[in-house]
Amino acid sequence: MFRPRSLALAAVAATTVSLVAAPATASAQPSESTPIPGFTAAHSKWQRQYERLFSAIPSGAKGRSLDAELASEPALAGTTGDWHRVQRVVRELRSYGLKPEIKTYYTYLSHPKRVSVTMTAPTRQSLPVKEKPQPWQKHFEDVIPSHNGYSPSGNIEGEVVYANYGRPEDFALLAKNGVSVKGKIALIRYGAAFRGIKPREAAKAGAKGVLIYSDPKDDGFIRGKVYPEGPWRAADGIQRGSIEQIQLAVGDPLTPGWSSTKHAKRIKPSEAPALRGLIPTTPISYGAAEPLLKALKGDQVPKEWQGGLPFTYRFGPGGTKVHLDLKNDFSIKPIWDIIVRIPGSERPDQEVFLGAHRDAWAYGSDDDLSGTENLLQVGRGLAQLLKKGWHPKRTVVLANWDGEEYGILGSTEYAEQRDKELRKAVTYVNMDGAGGSEFGAAATPALDQTVIDATKAVQWPGTGSSLYDVWKKQNDGTTPIDRIGGGSDFQPFFERYGVPAMDMGASSPGSSGNYHCSCDDFYWMSHFGDPTFEYHAAMSRLTGIAVLRMANADVLTMRYQPYAAETATYLNDFTAQQQKQLGKVVVDVSRDVTQAKAWQQAAQALQARADAALQHGDTAAFRRLNDKLMQAERDLLTRLGLPGRPWYRHQIYAPGIDTGYATQRLPALYDALFADKDVPTAKAYEGHLYDSLKAATRTLTP
Ligand SMILES: [Zn+2]
Repeated sequence: MFRPRSLALAAVAATTVSLVAAPATASAQPSESTPIPGFTAAHSKWQRQYERLFSAIPSGAKGRSLDAELASEPALAGTTGDWHRVQRVVRELRSYGLKPEIKTYYTYLSHPKRVSVTMTAPTRQSLPVKEKPQPWQKHFEDVIPSHNGYSPSGNIEGEVVYANYGRPEDFALLAKNGVSVKGKIALIRYGAAFRGIKPREAAKAGAKGVLIYSDPKDDGFIRGKVYPEGPWRAADGIQRGSIEQIQLAVGDPLTPGWSSTKHAKRIKPSEAPALRGLIPTTPISYGAAEPLLKALKGDQVPKEWQGGLPFTYRFGPGGTKVHLDLKNDFSIKPIWDIIVRIPGSERPDQEVFLGAHRDAWAYGSDDDLSGTENLLQVGRGLAQLLKKGWHPKRTVVLANWDGEEYGILGSTEYAEQRDKELRKAVTYVNMDGAGGSEFGAAATPALDQTVIDATKAVQWPGTGSSLYDVWKKQNDGTTPIDRIGGGSDFQPFFERYGVPAMDMGASSPGSSGNYHCSCDDFYWMSHFGDPTFEYHAAMSRLTGIAVLRMANADVLTMRYQPYAAETATYLNDFTAQQQKQLGKVVVDVSRDVTQAKAWQQAAQALQARADAALQHGDTAAFRRLNDKLMQAERDLLTRLGLPGRPWYRHQIYAPGIDTGYATQRLPALYDALFADKDVPTAKAYEGHLYDSLKAATRTLTP
């Protein structure tokens, strides 16, 4: 769905250039005698051999041939093209000797029947709502036109107002400048927040419709050469995408919290929290937006609002009128997850997941066939090792999700169906956009060290260095790991069920230019993204190794000391924020800070116990330690759910209520106190958090 880290990477790109010139440090390859964290010395040797055999299997050539085939047809969730892709993936997995299972869910989906955008003043002009086909693009008739998933239908005409990124602060600035959006059509550019926030805010300000366009300053010609000459978005490139209110709940909007099986109970669309507050919305290209913006009257916008088109942007209204005619079909359709279980030899009940979605707005070579193809390469590697008698100790589950683009549907419905089994899930590893030169990761703090250790075990293409060394060099000597927010299949596992999760991605310069566009195709990937597909192969090795370590570790490498320390920092920040915004402390979290410190000490003691157990090969202790390590993340959930969005249960991390993708720390406390100004609720949730921190401390106490 989205890769927030690509924005972060774009921001650091300028500094990366100068770092390339820095002298390459010798690659610190772990010596064979140093045990892998979480393994006894003896098991470490076994694991290294396993990893060496596994790493030899993924290849650029295999990735390339998979992408050429899989990306040859669009595969929007629930369509014939998607079903063809299911069959291709299943056939591929079977050819490795694996036994894929198709799990079908019945989900509420939208589909555009009619999309028409016409400028009616100052001149009449019908605007394009689909890209021009390229000669190599097959089945182009199956690429849908402009569509924002779950947008209501509507036939409206009105004056246009330009609203920048469409965030709360943008509408506040319009109001401050005396520009009313009431009864108007808001023209909003993509970026800065999840697209579903834009129509929500426009509707609140009284708009009757929304056009969201891709400004060339954000991902078009201002950034570099455009498709098909370069990777950036061309004048006709459209960013499709869902406007489901994912900050309230992900998954099928009609079954929030339970699975969309065939005969499941469903709520009415009008009652679905995730569809709340929407107005007719459609995306357009900057080619289509240009005449609308150019004819706008009114005051000149502030310079932060000026985009990349070669004229002065104005707020409107006046000058431009537009007629928007959207007819969207809504129906319950089957979607298909593909699940492969490789049973563990010692703990078959404990599952380690590797997941990537298969559905795409169009062809989706990058988003997310890259992840799907890497998942297949991991499956191929494991299957070959199985034939040689190598079994993982815990069960490895490879999951190829459907319906991610509409709002994380396939993974959510699966997780909601298997909530009891997920209590024993060890880890969820996600890939969504995983075939480029720039690595990025998000994880629970408990798994930071696991991410870092895995990057040390993989060579990065064309560098002669480990991914770890390259990653550090690209980031001023640091290894930045984001915290999990919104926008991909890790959400149900982590944010509802407390399964420790990580998201591993790799993008390339210009990746945001192909986002949800028909230009995200095999041509794009093989010319710009990863021409040799060696980054795909490296990401297959990386995620495969991360999964195999979690599957085989004697003691799971979850580290709660840094987690507890970070939580204490969040709590102190919350106090500082109260001082700043309210001039006093209304919700006292000092006992939580004290408890976080106790949690940290318990984690430290547990780690010492784990280190000793590993050193002495004390297998009797392993099981007890692992149960504790798996439980601690779950202790941070609240069964009540977060205020106003009960689907979300994790008290430390959630998608921001006004950002949708970007992560909000301590979401219940911030939302209740600062957004809702509801002091009793904020105080109640301080109590729930305190109970959770106590439980996590108790869990980790050796
Ligand atoms: Zn995606």
